[in-house]
Amino acid sequence: MPEREMPLPTDLDPRGRTFGEEERAAVLRVLDSAVLCSSFGSEARSLEAEMSHLYSRREAVACSSGTAALHLAVAAAGAGPGDEVVTTPISDFGTVAPVMAQGARVKFADVRAEDGNLDPAAVEAAITPRTKAVIAVHLFGAAADIVALRAICDRHGLVLIEDCAQAWLGEDEEGRLLGTLGDIACFSLQQFKHITAGDGGLAVTDDPELARGMRLFMDKGWDRAEGRIHRRMGLNYRMPELVAAVARAQLGKVADVVSRRRRRAGQLAAAIDGLRDCRMPERREGHAWWVVPLLVDDNARWSKRLLDLGIPSVPGYLERPLYANPAMPGYPPGLCPRAEELIDRTLLVLPWNEAYTEDDVDRIARALCEVGAR
Ligand SMILES: *Cc1c(COP(=O)(O)O)cnc(C)c1O
Repeated sequence: MPEREMPLPTDLDPRGRTFGEEERAAVLRVLDSAVLCSSFGSEARSLEAEMSHLYSRREAVACSSGTAALHLAVAAAGAGPGDEVVTTPISDFGTVAPVMAQGARVKFADVRAEDGNLDPAAVEAAITPRTKAVIAVHLFGAAADIVALRAICDRHGLVLIEDCAQAWLGEDEEGRLLGTLGDIACFSLQQFKHITAGDGGLAVTDDPELARGMRLFMDKGWDRAEGRIHRRMGLNYRMPELVAAVARAQLGKVADVVSRRRRRAGQLAAAIDGLRDCRMPERREGHAWWVVPLLVDDNARWSKRLLDLGIPSVPGYLERPLYANPAMPGYPPGLCPRAEELIDRTLLVLPWNEAYTEDDVDRIARALCEVGAR
């Protein structure tokens, strides 16, 4: 009789998260200091310094979520009523909510069929005189074509924002670190990301003006060094000290998290090589493997068969493209056909985790080989 198998570790399971003595000590250090607000403590400012060092960027701004980080970026880019921001229909809602909150319009460009990342030609075609910025999402940890997008933004005088929420330490084919080519790059520390403090966000930039704009927007438009004067509209997107302290411990682990995910993804790629109707991304070098996206012939059928074999997966990643949500009226169905085809039929997402063992990945591969055809 087969041994009963342990469920795979998940992001909601101590086995699937990297909390240890470091995080425990961090929480107690802050509690014992009695200073839990980052305006008066040192944890969030230290996290910013460590993040700016990790990404070799001049400035980092800590805030309360990835969505908040993107809001800092979109606000600092100057997007407002009458302006447009071009981005992808396959992402978390946090990519577009900040644009809407600023009263600007989201212009959706279609994606590449092979990896769901923005198609640079579609981005360029979506640009109008009202366009202020492009948000490039590195979907699932795979590099968007950041060099082409950088060139397009330079040609049209646009701010390029990288959404790196799923791409901690991801690299493109040339080994360029994702989050270093955009004018601003945004990161999330939400529960399901590579590293987490429950919720939290970071934005990095080399531009002192953009950094100042983001810092002001993060703290009610208030430069505390100057006095109680509000220079610009801003919100309270401050990161609490408890969060920052945990995030600092997690930041020290992110390289190991990504390298373990890469090792296991490599094992899976080798094991399912040759399957005709189920393919891993072709560009695997530098992938951060937030999840493992697969291309299949019929994602609903695959998801059901895999679940019967005890392997969870998410067909399409989203239920619908961002523009098909009730919160975003005014976009016609069929707007981005390649994105819709991925969501409705060809994209299957496997949850991925640095705690997967060689046996776990063997089990996943065996299930895929059972469902697929050689
Ligand atoms: C998670 C995520 C966000 C939003 O981050 P939160 O911390 O949940 O607000 C934005 N973009 C992408 C691509 C994400 O995966």
